[in-house]
Amino acid sequence: MPDRAPLLRSLPAVGALLGHPLVKAEAARTEPARLTQALREEVAEERARRLAGEPPREPDALAAGAVARLERLFRPQLRRVVNATGVVLNTNLGRAPLAPGILDDLTAIAGGYSNLELDLETGQRGSRYSHVEALLCRLTGAEAALVVNNCAAAVLLVVDAFARGREVVVSRGQLIEIGGSFRLPEVITGSGARLVEVGTTNKTYLSDYERAVGPDTGMLLLSHTSNYRIIGFTAEVERRELATLGRERGVVTVEDLGSGLLVDLTRFGVPPEPTVQESVASGIDLVTVSGDKLLGGPQCGLILGRKNLIAKLKRHPLLRALRQDKLGLAALEGTLRLYLQPDHVIAEVPIFKAMAKRPDTLKGEANRLAERLAPLPGVAVRVVEGTSSVGGGTLPGVELPTWLVAVRPHTLGVDELARRMRTGEPAVVGRIGEDQLLLDPRTLLEGDEARVQAALKEALSR
Ligand SMILES: *Cc1c(COP(=O)(O)O)cnc(C)c1O
Repeated sequence: MPDRAPLLRSLPAVGALLGHPLVKAEAARTEPARLTQALREEVAEERARRLAGEPPREPDALAAGAVARLERLFRPQLRRVVNATGVVLNTNLGRAPLAPGILDDLTAIAGGYSNLELDLETGQRGSRYSHVEALLCRLTGAEAALVVNNCAAAVLLVVDAFARGREVVVSRGQLIEIGGSFRLPEVITGSGARLVEVGTTNKTYLSDYERAVGPDTGMLLLSHTSNYRIIGFTAEVERRELATLGRERGVVTVEDLGSGLLVDLTRFGVPPEPTVQESVASGIDLVTVSGDKLLGGPQCGLILGRKNLIAKLKRHPLLRALRQDKLGLAALEGTLRLYLQPDHVIAEVPIFKAMAKRPDTLKGEANRLAERLAPLPGVAVRVVEGTSSVGGGTLPGVELPTWLVAVRPHTLGVDELARRMRTGEPAVVGRIGEDQLLLDPRTLLEGDEARVQAALKEALSR
């Protein structure tokens, strides 16, 4: 071991760095305690580096490092990102962007007081769930509806309310993991219910459910295998058949549908996907869906179905812990209102606008973007055919034809270019393929083309 003591002794003191011009300039606008803390952290990091055998940095670098720390501290960490991946619903990128037309109402609710739990007519206490319930019932045909903070919470609540200490019967082919550790079997057992698996991975018949139902059965649960597909020699039970069985045996039937689709997507060249209306109409007692998948709204979970069952959920003590906040409710209400006019939905909800884009439109957009990027030094830019996907754990394997802008850096590695684009302001996220950064115009929003251009320019000049 070389002797590091002299290196550590020469480590600049925080007090000395306070006199550095860069730090003094910063001191004019930063609280002293915060400034000192940033300097301390920077000096601590320098000490660790020196101990690790890295070359010592000059005080100038340490002062600049501390100032950069403060800048990061004051910059929002949760930031706007340009989605150039072509994946319309990406959980990592916040799933569904909200329709621009509902944002003014949202701002008003966010920045002011609201009638969240006040009945304005009577002046008495109201229910936060009342604002969207009628709208949800009208749109889905359900008798009643309840909103919680996501679909995982919806499933948790439903299982807890109707099957705690009892059995939940599920087909082996439907024991899904959604990702982010939402595993249906664990949600069931975590709610204090016992999982009873029926059928096999590829085939489950009504008779399997019939045999499994007994005095301890609390629930028959169907789960939409939203993020994978079992193909080939397969059989699953129709929801209508299961609903009938549940009614005959006096057992609650639930479908965890997940994607929350309210419109027909086949017009976008996508295979048929069950809608919430279909599930409700089948006679299944309760349906659980996400608000920020194919509904195109905010993160939330919707529970739709029979009035008496929803009433029980509304009284459940867990609901308080799972309840949706006013911003989510306002965003959900605004989004649902757009569905009252089906043409509005397709034209205004960003996920549908993205899915609706036709290849010739996308080619035009890719060409326009390429024209902006091509003059930048250090890259070769081409427009190539490719595919986009819907993502978000929905429509597995479905590919939408698109045109991509392929950016090939001359000297910079493509991973480094992608990293610089991600860490710039604004952040731009694309895909990497064949040593190129691929930018898909399908998921670009209003104004994003100029943002991508600025981001690439900045990334290449770093
Ligand atoms: C996505 C999904 C969930 C989880 O929904 P979140 O809103 O992300 O909690 C649950 N079940 C199914 C079938 C899903 O597709």
